[in-house]
Amino acid sequence: MDALIRVENLRHVYKTASGDKLALDGVNLSIDAGEFVAIIGTNGSGKSTLAKHFNALLLPTSGKVFVDGLDTSDEENLWHVRENVGMVFQNPDSEIVAAIVEDDVAFGLENLGIAPDKIRERVDLALDAVNMSGYKVFAPSKLSGGQKQRIAIAGVVAMQTKVIVLDEPTAMLDPQGRREILSLVKRLHAQGKTIIYITHFMEEAAEAQRVFVMERGKILRVGTPHEIFTNVAEMKRLGFDVPVAAELAERLRGKFKLPKNILTADELAEALHR
Ligand code: ADP
Ligand code: MG
Repeated sequence: MDALIRVENLRHVYKTASGDKLALDGVNLSIDAGEFVAIIGTNGSGKSTLAKHFNALLLPTSGKVFVDGLDTSDEENLWHVRENVGMVFQNPDSEIVAAIVEDDVAFGLENLGIAPDKIRERVDLALDAVNMSGYKVFAPSKLSGGQKQRIAIAGVVAMQTKVIVLDEPTAMLDPQGRREILSLVKRLHAQGKTIIYITHFMEEAAEAQRVFVMERGKILRVGTPHEIFTNVAEMKRLGFDVPVAAELAERLRGKFKLPKNILTADELAEALHR
């Protein structure tokens, strides 16, 4: 079966007044339906630029992006690409467009010309999916950052896209808000959504099935969280933190004989116990 998202030799150049800026430099990847992948990378490594290619907000300078087999740079496909891939961005305030929660969630659907009763049904389901049913007639401005992000996610859920791309959705949230979003994302994945999750929180990336590590417009590493994060020395050299348990395991290795692939607190506790 063809991958749901396929990127081939993608280069992206931003034209600016001060000259050309190469933001993506030969990216290749493929993501299957139902996968949960995380993308990590230092600031400016090209994560957001890549994310915007998944739903044709940006088009390749060269190379190709295919969504469900459709070339995103073919204008005829734009509609179907956007129907397949929803985006959630970092700043919840800039994503809210309406004065009442239910109108905000309905916004994308109204543009699709769906019948009003169908819209209401989909909005109710979407608010239910993000545990915000009780807030239908609230003003978004009264909500916490985490709640606003859940409303933004509800907007995408209501569109019933196969893929949800989240670009650092927890960057502006407190720890409580971050936990809410991560558990919601895991639930959506369990329900069959394909998740592409960009984050600079390594503990969040560790929850994905595969992790892509970006640097300077390239994908430097791809692997399971275990493969990526238990390589503590390399991750540090690249400028990343690693999850606390992996870091602790590395430090304890001088004193105890510990296996190589420790990522979670449970695995560390188990290894120390033995
Ligand atoms: P990340 O999301 O990993 O921080 P970005 O994709 O935002 O990285 O940026 C990648 C590179 O492209 C950076 O060097 C950034 O400065 C540059 N860049 C991003 N957006 C623009 C833009 N609109 N115009 C010019 N350069 C940009
Ligand atoms: Mg970014």
